[in-house]
Amino acid sequence: MSAPPSGLPPYDDTNIFARILRGEIPSKRVHEDEYAVAFHDINPQAPVHVLVIPRGRYVSLADFSATASDPEIAGFWRMVGRVARELGLEERGYRALTNMGPEGGQEVPHFHVHLFGGRRLGRMVPGAERQVGPGAERQMGAGAER
Ligand code: AMP
Repeated sequence: MSAPPSGLPPYDDTNIFARILRGEIPSKRVHEDEYAVAFHDINPQAPVHVLVIPRGRYVSLADFSATASDPEIAGFWRMVGRVARELGLEERGYRALTNMGPEGGQEVPHFHVHLFGGRRLGRMVPGAERQVGPGAERQMGAGAER
C-alpha cells in the first residue's frame, strides 16, 4: 500500500474503523473476507444501514481508487454487491453511497460505502430540488457537455 495521493491527509491508524478492523471495539459484522468487512452502522439512517470497508489503509474513495490494487478493488466491490444481495435488498432496490472529504460530509477517515435499504429513500442529496431542471444546466456553465 502506498501513500495517499497528494492533497489527502495521511491515514490515521487511530480512526474508529481501524480500531474495528483490529477488533479493539465491537461491531455487528454481516460478512468479512480477506479484502473487506461489512458491519451494521451504529446510528442507522434506514431499516438496513450497513457499512462496507476495505481491510487496507485507505482514507477515502480518492485514495482507494488511486492506490489500491486491482484485487483489492474487485474484492471490495464484490463484497458491497454480495452484502446487498444477501440482505435481500435487490428486489426493492437500495442505495450505495460514499462520502469523501469535508464537502462530502465524511466523518470517519477510512474509506467506506454505506448501504441503505428497507424503505423508499427519497432524493439523493438534501436540497437537490433547488438544483434540478433547466437551472441546473445553466449552473453547469454554457456549453457544458455531459
Ligand atoms: P461518514 O459520515 O460517511 O464518514 O460515515 C461514518 C458512519 O460511521 C456514520 O454513519 C456513523 O454512524 C458510523 N459509525 C461511527 N462509529 C461507528 C461504530 N463504532 N460502529 C458502526 N458505525 C459507526
